[in-house]
Amino acid sequence: MATIFTHPIIALGLKPLFSTVLNSKAVFWLGMLLTILPDIDVIGLKMGIPYASLFGHRGFTHSLFFAALIAAIISTFLSRRNKANFLASWFYLFLCTASHGVLDALTNGGHGVAFFSPFTNTRYFFSVTPIEVSTLNMTHFFQGQGGR
Ligand SMILES: [Zn+2]
Repeated sequence: MATIFTHPIIALGLKPLFSTVLNSKAVFWLGMLLTILPDIDVIGLKMGIPYASLFGHRGFTHSLFFAALIAAIISTFLSRRNKANFLASWFYLFLCTASHGVLDALTNGGHGVAFFSPFTNTRYFFSVTPIEVSTLNMTHFFQGQGGR
């Protein structure tokens, strides 16, 4: 199941590939955080933003553009403070953020992922969807589907 607890596993899995060029623990912690950041869009659902809209769930924050943008912003900040090499941290943080949409597109429920937002809001799933979709309802998450 793709959840806020399982998405960060991708950041941990990518860490050995970047450990020789990234020696900042901050980058790896940020990578873990960025694997779950795209789901910040569920706040919009509570505010009445439609699921299928540009800023709806699995919309802009799940796109490759968002992943590239947030990775660039954070990597600029880190490189200016000599915390990390810009290109290495950008690539690591981009992969961490983009992995969220990839895992969501492998789930068996909800709407697809707007990988190419804001250019198109078309939603995509992969042709195989072996991952159980997670509920967005916290009560159900801890007591029902998520508990299992
Ligand atoms: Zn998501």
